[in-house]
Amino acid sequence: MTHKPLLCASALLLCAFCLHAVPAAASPAVIQLLDEAERLEARDPKSAMQRTSEALAALDAQGAAADEGLRRRALVQRCWLQASNRLTDPLLDVDKTLASPLFGTWDAQRAELRLCRGALLVNQRTLNEASREYEAVLAEAERLGNRALLADALTLRAEMRTELADHAAALADLQRAYDINTQLARSRSQQQVLNNIANLYSDNNVGAYEQAIDHYKRLLDLQKADQAERDAAVTLHNLAATYEAKKDFPQALALFRQGREIEQSLGLQAETMQANRAIARTLIKLGQPEDALPMLDEALRFFERAGDEDSVAQMRTTRGVALQALARPRDALVELNAALAVFERQSDDAFIEFIEGQRALAFAALGQWKAAAQARERQIALVRTLTEAARNKQFARLQVQFDTARKEEQNAALFAENTARRQALEDAGRIQRLQWLLIAVGGVGLLGLAAMTWRQLTLSRRMRDLALSDELTRLPNRRNLLAQAQLRMDQADEDKVPLSVLAIDIDHFKRVNDVYGHEAGDLVLRRVAQACTGALRTNDVIGRVGGEEFVAVLSDADREVARAVAERMRSAVEALRFPDVDPGLRVTISLGVAQRGELEPMLAPLAARADAALYRAKQAGRNRIEE
Ligand code: GH3
Ligand code: MG
Ligand code: MG
Repeated sequence: MTHKPLLCASALLLCAFCLHAVPAAASPAVIQLLDEAERLEARDPKSAMQRTSEALAALDAQGAAADEGLRRRALVQRCWLQASNRLTDPLLDVDKTLASPLFGTWDAQRAELRLCRGALLVNQRTLNEASREYEAVLAEAERLGNRALLADALTLRAEMRTELADHAAALADLQRAYDINTQLARSRSQQQVLNNIANLYSDNNVGAYEQAIDHYKRLLDLQKADQAERDAAVTLHNLAATYEAKKDFPQALALFRQGREIEQSLGLQAETMQANRAIARTLIKLGQPEDALPMLDEALRFFERAGDEDSVAQMRTTRGVALQALARPRDALVELNAALAVFERQSDDAFIEFIEGQRALAFAALGQWKAAAQARERQIALVRTLTEAARNKQFARLQVQFDTARKEEQNAALFAENTARRQALEDAGRIQRLQWLLIAVGGVGLLGLAAMTWRQLTLSRRMRDLALSDELTRLPNRRNLLAQAQLRMDQADEDKVPLSVLAIDIDHFKRVNDVYGHEAGDLVLRRVAQACTGALRTNDVIGRVGGEEFVAVLSDADREVARAVAERMRSAVEALRFPDVDPGLRVTISLGVAQRGELEPMLAPLAARADAALYRAKQAGRNRIEE
């Protein structure tokens, strides 16, 4: 759910078109259409597409007399418009165009069309083929000495590499592109690349927030000098989101507000209302949900009037979070359910996952455990799906790297000498990466061997431990506890001192499992066991005798002392927090105390009395001690 508006991906490519302007004599009307389309591209892609289609129709009408260079320019332009607007099946168009005699030989326009084809392939997630296309264009741009094309190809390859999480390689491409654009004084392309570099640094997986901030600030200066206010507003939001990721919420708030101010002054209503949501989110994080609500209400009303269902659902989601923070779970659920219906229709897993998590908390706050458990279960299933998707992406990354390496090996012989030298340098880097990979794999193997040896060595010890202690909590198990109790009772007889037993049971533990899952339940069990152990005196012993039931044997303890220990345990558990499960989760225990009677030889009846007391503690409302 990160906020990361990108400048239009194709904006930087406008200047590439300028490089092959066609003599004006050719067809003034067509040239005018194409120029207009270029101007409109970023702001109004639909009209831009219309102009380009008109230009192509006019060229068709001219038949054989039409200017070929102009037709090529129009076709390249159409491809970029299709790529940046994510039209469904433009590949067919571009493949047909590339096959036509018009683009028969390698030249800048053909290279550019292939670059565009690469972008289309990335859109369609055909990454191996896209990668090959980019490599071919890069080689061609070098051969032609076309620096602008080279910079654009590097920028696009970096975008693909970023998507593939190959951050270091993406950064190298962007830095080269930045240098070239600076030398050529391509100001807009320079800004675009700077923006991409900053986005890359602020990516969650990179997390180099300081560098990101540095680059966004440089970008902001350039945009201000260019009076590109709209772009500056986008940058302010990106900068704010970076501070937000850095958890510097006051700074984030100030910058979101600056961005909103610009958007408002430009009359960009939808953007202004989206900024409301960013500001509201930050206010919630600053613990001011009551201030967030009016901002969200304003935006909600706006998007409802505009009939923008997506944005309405987003506002409702954040409204749900705010209401939750205001301890109004019932109202929160109304918002969350409405938003959920929209995102379900769109199968937007990331949003659904987030909302289900929020719903689980709201239901839990209302004591609707079953509904909470269902929401939680769905959330966990979605997390799994999303993780799986991320893993597939990772796999695709390796696939592309290996394929590219192989392909380049085959082509290396065909390259001119200077190209080959550059290639060799690049290959060296790649091989080094592969070597690192091998070393890592080898390292894992070695570690595995060491681990196996270690396991052999410790196996016998662990077998013994396992027989005596409980796997989950590492406390003595029932059998071990009985043995220890016997030792202590014998000792107590010898010393003529009292001895007491505590029976302990976690309250409503089933709910913890139901709401947070069995794994979280295990974690809670371990922490409770630790807390109880921490409350014991040195000579006491505690064991796990059932699922979430424990028994403690207290040497030299009459009922007063036993009560004191029990109270320490009770309050220690009550004070436990589980930030890794849910900061709001509270767990309590009930305890039964029984003091050993005169010369009572066996543990069983003593434990039974403690158990009966525990039962009374449960009856009396839990989180308490009874004798
Ligand atoms: P009460 O306060 O009345 O004791 O309520 P309760 O929910 O604790 O009720 P009960 O004692 O019947 O439920 C105990 C639950 O503990 C049932 C079982 O699912 C869970 N449980 C038992 N052993 C384990 C375990 O090893 N791990 C986890 N996660 N849960 C366990
Ligand atoms: Mg129980
Ligand atoms: Mg219980």
